[in-house]
Amino acid sequence: MSNPWHTFFWRLAAICGAALVLGAVIGQAALLLALALAGILAHTLFKLHRLQTWLGSQQQTPPHERCGIWHEIYSLLRRRSNNYRRRQQRLLILVRAFREAAEALPDGIVHLAADQRVVWFNQPAARHLGLHWPRDAGLALTDLLRWSPAALAWLRQGVSEPLTDISAAVGNDSGSGSDRRLGLRMVRYRGDGEQLLIVRDISQMMRLEQMRRDFVANVSHELRTPLTVLHGYLDLLDPEESPHLAPALDEMRTQSTRMARLVEDLLTLSRLESGQPLQEERVRVTNILSTLRREAVALSQGRHQIEVDNLAGVDLHGSARELHSAFSNLVTNAVRYTPDGGRITIAWQHNQEGGATLSVTDTGHGIPPQHLERITERFYRVSNSRARHSGGTGLGLSIVKHVLQLHQAGLEISSTLGTGSRFSCVFGPARILPPVGTAASDDTGAQTGLDAGSDA
Ligand code: ADP
Repeated sequence: MSNPWHTFFWRLAAICGAALVLGAVIGQAALLLALALAGILAHTLFKLHRLQTWLGSQQQTPPHERCGIWHEIYSLLRRRSNNYRRRQQRLLILVRAFREAAEALPDGIVHLAADQRVVWFNQPAARHLGLHWPRDAGLALTDLLRWSPAALAWLRQGVSEPLTDISAAVGNDSGSGSDRRLGLRMVRYRGDGEQLLIVRDISQMMRLEQMRRDFVANVSHELRTPLTVLHGYLDLLDPEESPHLAPALDEMRTQSTRMARLVEDLLTLSRLESGQPLQEERVRVTNILSTLRREAVALSQGRHQIEVDNLAGVDLHGSARELHSAFSNLVTNAVRYTPDGGRITIAWQHNQEGGATLSVTDTGHGIPPQHLERITERFYRVSNSRARHSGGTGLGLSIVKHVLQLHQAGLEISSTLGTGSRFSCVFGPARILPPVGTAASDDTGAQTGLDAGSDA
């Protein structure tokens, strides 16, 4: 028991003892004891009332008590309240430091509550998105991004992927910014759904990217004419007239053909990346499959067993030319990377998502798992010697990926080393059309795409 309690009980005992003694003298011991206890109770109630009044008030300093239990209680409460205040100040300093650090960031940050209402944002966010503090605090993000249909569509779709390119807020106070490009990214950082919207000015990056694309497109375009001229002259030279030059002429023809294919593939990639909308139409998959079979047979020259299965029987909505070019790349690869005697299966079948999948399966060399993630990058090759020898450009799968992206489709690759690979183009239900008419009446539409895209 602590000292104040000691004193308290001694005092209680002394008061009760004195009341009893006095009571015995006057013959009213019980009455005096009751009066003494009532007095003690009243005193304690009074102190409790003071404590309650103080706790309910805004006052920092507690009522004065010189000693005793109440002095001890008030001292403890004062200490606790001082500690609490010190901690609060430390937190305040920390929050201020964080906010200052957030202000110093070059990227815009918008702190959102679980219902996507704005809690706070930094200066760069205000600049990029045209926000004002405190006017826009508490408003829904959808109201603040109303100027950008792309951003609204992104929010509706659930923001799972970053949004890479929108124009900066038009009509913000600075009046500038309409030519700026922004990237948006949503980061969920707390279990109760609070999120951070990160806004990045990607204008410079987009400009550099555009310069790179223009450069590649221009160089490829400029190379086309000299290559055609070289080709022409090489065709004029007859190796039989100068047999000692025959091997050199042969090699020059092979290399110039390879360069021409490289230039064509680069131009195809530039076209796909240009952002121009595709010419979309009904794509007769039956016709594409027949063309793919013809191309595979021609390329294989009897070295492989070629199988084509049209299990889905449906058509696609998209660009016949680009789709054929993508599928043809996969078939060409399958023939190139499958040793003689292997089997290549091209299948068109329904998938679990309600769409359809075109898969090209081979029994070839296969691809080591560590390469699968990067295999669709430009010029990425699993084995340089084998790929060069195969005559590929290193751009085929990159083209496939771009074409599929433009059709909101995905490329799935599964491969086992030494056993074979499967490349699947997975189309969603929105791209699938029920078949109509017969192949004979369809030839015109699909044939246009196939002829233009035929490169095998
Ligand atoms: P390339 O023109 O070199 O074939 P691609 O982009 O089409 O370029 O393919 C990239 C690389 O992926 C190839 O170099 C090859 O190593 C590998 N690859 C592609 N398809 C297959 C396949 N069916 N079997 C094994 N490897 C493949």
